[in-house]
Formats: sequence, C-alpha cells, structure tokens
Amino acid sequence: MKFQNIYIEASNHSLPVLAEVDVLVAGGGAAGVAAAETAARQGNKVLLIEKYGFLGGAAVAGLSGTICGLYLASDTNKKPEQIVYGFTDKFCAEMKRHNGLTEPQKYGKTWTVTHDPLVWRETAENLLEAAGASILYHTSISGVIKEDDVFKGVILDTKAGKAAVHAKVLIDATGDADLIYRAGLEYIMGDNGVIQNPTMIFRLGGVDVKRFLQEWGDDTISPAHVTARIEQAVRQEHADLPRTKIWTFPTPRPNELLVNATRLLGRDKQELNVTLPQDHTEAEILGRRQVRAYAAFFKKYVAGCEQSYVNDTGVEVGVRQTRTIVGAERLNNQDVVARRKRKDGIARCPWPIELHSGDKPKLEWLLDDYYEIPYGALVPAQGENILVAGRCLAAEHEALASARVTAQCFQYGEAAGMAADLAIKRNQPLRTLFGEEIRDLLNKENARLN
Ligand SMILES: Cc1cc2nc3c(=O)[nH]c(=O)nc-3n(C[C@H](O)[C@H](O)[C@H](O)COP(=O)(O)OP(=O)(O)OC[C@H]3O[C@@H](n4cnc5c(N)ncnc54)[C@H](O)[C@@H]3O)c2cc1C
Repeated sequence: MKFQNIYIEASNHSLPVLAEVDVLVAGGGAAGVAAAETAARQGNKVLLIEKYGFLGGAAVAGLSGTICGLYLASDTNKKPEQIVYGFTDKFCAEMKRHNGLTEPQKYGKTWTVTHDPLVWRETAENLLEAAGASILYHTSISGVIKEDDVFKGVILDTKAGKAAVHAKVLIDATGDADLIYRAGLEYIMGDNGVIQNPTMIFRLGGVDVKRFLQEWGDDTISPAHVTARIEQAVRQEHADLPRTKIWTFPTPRPNELLVNATRLLGRDKQELNVTLPQDHTEAEILGRRQVRAYAAFFKKYVAGCEQSYVNDTGVEVGVRQTRTIVGAERLNNQDVVARRKRKDGIARCPWPIELHSGDKPKLEWLLDDYYEIPYGALVPAQGENILVAGRCLAAEHEALASARVTAQCFQYGEAAGMAADLAIKRNQPLRTLFGEEIRDLLNKENARLN
C-alpha cells in the first residue's frame, strides 16, 4: 500500500491560522512534555499538540510504566546511585509527592522506578500549566508548512477540520519523527528496515504482592525457575508465550503488577513495521491476545497471582523504535560501548543496550559508568527551525536500544526546549548553537552534567 505525504509551501497556504507561537511541540510523551515545560518556563509562548486526550505517550498510553535510565548499573553497588537530574528529577519528585512512583526496584544490575500512569498524566499537565504552556488534545499533525528548507508551522487535523499553526521553532517529539517524514526529509528505519519488537504491556490486579515477591525474588527480571516454567508451558501446552525472559514490576497501587512480557511478530512471523497502519493494527490485536496467554500463565503458575486478572492493557501497543533522523551528529554504537563523554553532551545515559529483537531481549550492561549524547543528535541534517526530541533522535540501531528510555527522553526534551529558547532570543539558527552552551544552561537548571 502506498501513502502520500503532504507539506505546504508557506507563502500560499490558505488554511485558517489557529495560533502563532514561539515554540510548537509536536507530541506529548516524555520528550514533548519536558520540551514544552522548559521552553515555556523561559518565557516563550508554547503550544503542545497531542493526538490523544492525555500526556505520556509510550510511558502512559503504551504503559511502558517505569522510568529507566536514572541510576548507574553495577556489579558491586548495593544501593542505587542516581546520575540524571534536571527536569527528570523534578518530574520524579512531583510524582512521588502524589504517591505515583515507587522506590527504586532492582532490574538486573541496575534499578528503575515504576509509576502510576494516571498520576503521570496529571503531573505533566500541572507542570505545563505552571510553566504557562498550552496544550491541544485530540489533534493530529498531518503536515508541515515550509518555505524552501525552513519550517514555518504545521497542519492540524481536528474534528472541526484542518487548521495551521505558525511557529518560530518546531520540536518534533512525535517518537516517529512525523514532522521530518511529512517534510519529505531523510530518515533511517532501524537496522536496514528491521525495528525492535513491539510489546503489549498490561497490568495485573488482584495479586498478593508479598507472596509473589517471596517466590519471584526482588529482581524484576524473571528468575530462572519462571523462565523454565514458561518454556515448559510452551512445550507441553503450546501456549502463546514467545518471550521467556519477562519483566514484572510491583506498581505504586496495592495488589498490582505491571507486566512487560509479550513479543509481537506478524501472523506471517515477520517483524512488524508499525508505521504502516496494517502492521500497527495487527500488533494491537495480536498483542491483546498474547496478554491473555501471559495472564493465564501468571494465574496458573506464579505464586501470589492465583486470583489475578487483567486490569488494563496499554491504550496502544508499545513501540520501541520507528524512524530516527539523519542528524547533524549521530550517537554511534561505539560511543555507547566506549562510554564516550563529550563537551557538547546535553544528556547522559547509564542504561544498558536493551535490544528487543529475535527470541530474547539482549542486555549489554554499562557498569559503573555512562555515556553522553551530543546536541547535534537532536538537529536534523536538513531543515531549519526544527529540532527533534525523544526516541527519534539520530542514533545507530543498538545505541538507540539504550538511549531511548524515559529519563533520557526527558533530558532530550529539556535540551531541545532550552535550545529553542536560546535560538529565539538570539535570533540564531538552531544548528549554529553549540552543545557546550546548552549544556551550561542545563547545568544552571540542576542538570548536573559536570
Ligand atoms: C514496550 C515498551 C516498554 C518500554 N519500557 C520502558 C521502561 O520500562 N522504562 C523506560 O524508561 N522506558 C521504556 N520504554 C521506552 C520509553 O517508553 C519510550 O522510548 C519513551 O517513552 C519515548 O518517549 P518520546 O517522548 O520520545 O515518544 P512517545 O512517548 O512515543 O511520545 C510521542 C507522543 O506524540 C504523539 N504523537 C505522535 N504522532 C503525532 C502526531 N502526528 N500528531 C499529534 N501527536 C502525535 C503520541 O501520541 C505520543 O503521545 C519502553 C518502550 C516500549 C515500547
């Protein structure tokens, strides 16, 4: 099936103009929320556009459910050591204040924190309101407005019809680099077109969490006996449980687990490309089916889950990877493996390479260290007045399998919001800003990158 992209040359569009803003943020996931809050707090007129009726993106609609990337991994450290601050830390503190975040939970050699998706939405909305940013829900961006290479605004699709928004700076935080794609600019799709598996995450209610933990243990990654049990159920009962290493997190709510277990391939056993509507639809349907198979496994075989039931699945299947941009710079696999630090680093990441491809997720730990992500990875190689933030940044396939988690997406958003402000105040092209100066500004806001 073929699809057509639209972009409109700025000089001759005749759509009604809904707003003229300093910064237009496309998408209200972790990156978009951080970008909008930061740019608005610096005094800019900011509008965030979101296709759903709530904020959170993959973290909330996809129920990814935990904030990874906050802590160092280690073979020896017995206590979590947080190394990411700035907006991420502020967001976590607000979530905690509203009982929406757990204490650190063990995940292999590192830690993560699990959040309540309803508190996530409210926290994000409150932060945006306090900063003075506006939100438009139930609105999709279906095109961009450009003049030659210069982005001037976006085309919105709403129930009321189409309209335009003009902006001095656009931040593409759609996860899928939709604005770059709509503009017909170059992008990369995974490893020669193959992207990481989607997963339908679910919440399991009615769990005796104390008994569950006694048998499962304190690591959220499945212990060997559970993995063996899954293998046995597949062999003996032909259960639809394609992933044997699964993750289970007690949530801030009583008697509830968040379960990250499914692994989705198409009916033809091929990898799905969820930017195509037919593959995306298949992922949703097969995802919900597979949730039932894992839930039945928990009920039958996992201690404490005898009375459990599926509370909820993601509003959408969790999508780990689609398009990434071709950037002024790229985060390479070698940068991650070598834990590269850089003067133009605007974010840091201690998260392992967590690659969901093939039979089992592969984890490659970065012990007692982290790497940094350059500002240039947020700057598209082509196109002016536009940055990206979030999982669509310029990164090599395996590098993205580390750099895409939530704490880092918050950091990219914060850096993009700060860069947008600087470019507007100085009337300077985004690509001529130095990562070093953005890093300095972020440090003044408690990013603690030095
Ligand atoms: C299955 C799965 C499990 C994961 N587990 C974890 C985990 O445990 N911990 C962790 O930290 N990370 C995890 N991640 C990764 C993390 O959730 C995401 O990488 C991160 O949330 C991405 O944030 P983002 O802001 O870049 O994009 P998204 O969260 O995808 O946000 C993009 C937003 O833009 C909106 N949007 C998109 N296109 C348009 C458009 N055209 N018009 C209007 N709005 C639009 C979307 O609705 C969405 O709200 C997981 C991801 C998946 C898929």
